[in-house]
Amino acid sequence: MKRLILLFLVLTTQVALADNRLEFSLHKIDSGIPGPTVLVVGGIQGDEPGGFHAASLLVTNYQITKGSVWVVPNLNFESIIRRSRGVNGDMNRKFARMKTTDPDYSEVERIKSLIRAPEVDFIFNMHDGSGFYRDKYIDPQHNARRWGQSIIIDQEELDTPKYANVGEFARQVTGQINQRLLDEEHRYHVKNTHTRRGNAEMEKTLTYYAINNGKAAVGIEASKNLPTHERVYYHLNALEFFMQQLGIEFKRSFQLEPLIVKQTIDNNIQIALHENRLLLDVAEARKRINYLPIKRGSQLEFTASNPLVAITSKGNGYHVNYGNRNLTFLHPQFFEYDNSLSTLDMQVDGNSANVDLGTIIEVTDRFSIEPLDGYRINVIGWTKDGVDNEVGYEIKRDHIARRFSVDTGGTLFRVEVYLEEKFCGMVLVKFTEQQEGQHASLQRQTSS
Ligand SMILES: [Zn+2]
Repeated sequence: MKRLILLFLVLTTQVALADNRLEFSLHKIDSGIPGPTVLVVGGIQGDEPGGFHAASLLVTNYQITKGSVWVVPNLNFESIIRRSRGVNGDMNRKFARMKTTDPDYSEVERIKSLIRAPEVDFIFNMHDGSGFYRDKYIDPQHNARRWGQSIIIDQEELDTPKYANVGEFARQVTGQINQRLLDEEHRYHVKNTHTRRGNAEMEKTLTYYAINNGKAAVGIEASKNLPTHERVYYHLNALEFFMQQLGIEFKRSFQLEPLIVKQTIDNNIQIALHENRLLLDVAEARKRINYLPIKRGSQLEFTASNPLVAITSKGNGYHVNYGNRNLTFLHPQFFEYDNSLSTLDMQVDGNSANVDLGTIIEVTDRFSIEPLDGYRINVIGWTKDGVDNEVGYEIKRDHIARRFSVDTGGTLFRVEVYLEEKFCGMVLVKFTEQQEGQHASLQRQTSS
């Protein structure tokens, strides 16, 4: 049976910009049930994907059922997209003092005010650190100067109104994480930086700013020596155990196992353009998508299924980035848009389907488009001599030139609708394998 792939677009509509700075987004996941509020910050350093993907998964795949979780998954967004620790220097050394001329000034001021927000009780700063922290020297990768696999506290006891016993909290959580280790080497420890005793570097950090403004805060470090999805696995374990300790309740839409975390990070990266007339799944996109019908004479409006997606205008097109990954380049062909049509009648594997423009439809074997008075259909990559309006033909995967697929795997194809010279919208056809059940993971999408 045919199925539509539905997704919730978690972000509000944005505009692709060339010159302006990318700004971080705040996602408030409120349960509506009284409880603590935590602030989770990812991406203060742009080259630590474990931290920012973990924060992002909270936004896309968790529901909070008691208390509130505020997430900033992309604090240093510009640096994330450019895969740099900090394009303007280390942002996590700008919380004690900073010049107003610093390019990071407005973003640091924004996050400071969120930290001070009266609702916020506890702050988590997510990092990927080098090696493996151990309190004694073992070898160059395992010693007290390393950061990986630790929970960082500035001091054992805080003078905050709530959760002052942060050292005790952190030890309880490391004990719980250590029940979930993938390998003994990954064992977590609490690292106390004793910041107040004169740690000049740590005095400049986000967590030290927080504890001096009455808020409990810790850093959570996974190891850069691990693959990203294993870092995310540990980060989410740490956050979940902290939330449990604090009395925040949640539901998660995937199993917390490393390979499932990897699939959840890698799948279903979708962008919708111009009021959702055009939806692309770019998780496995080709390097370049050509002749994409973009609205003439306006800025590119888009919505993304993930807060780590950025679209930036460059030269004659648009870069699409996802975290540290460069996903694709959209090469536009500009059109006037026509909004008179919202669905398309199709035959899909022998069944009739009324398909919304701006969605993906799964096809196992064949599809055709029903004729539509006045409108013209273009199945990108399918041609037949003398045929301009491509309706009424049964089309199978090997009838379409593979190089026109959106994805490198040759499964996703564009069906575009035009009214004279205007573009009306697009349906994305996804050819799937015969076996049922294989795509169950694609159906899983939740949102705040
Ligand atoms: Zn870091």
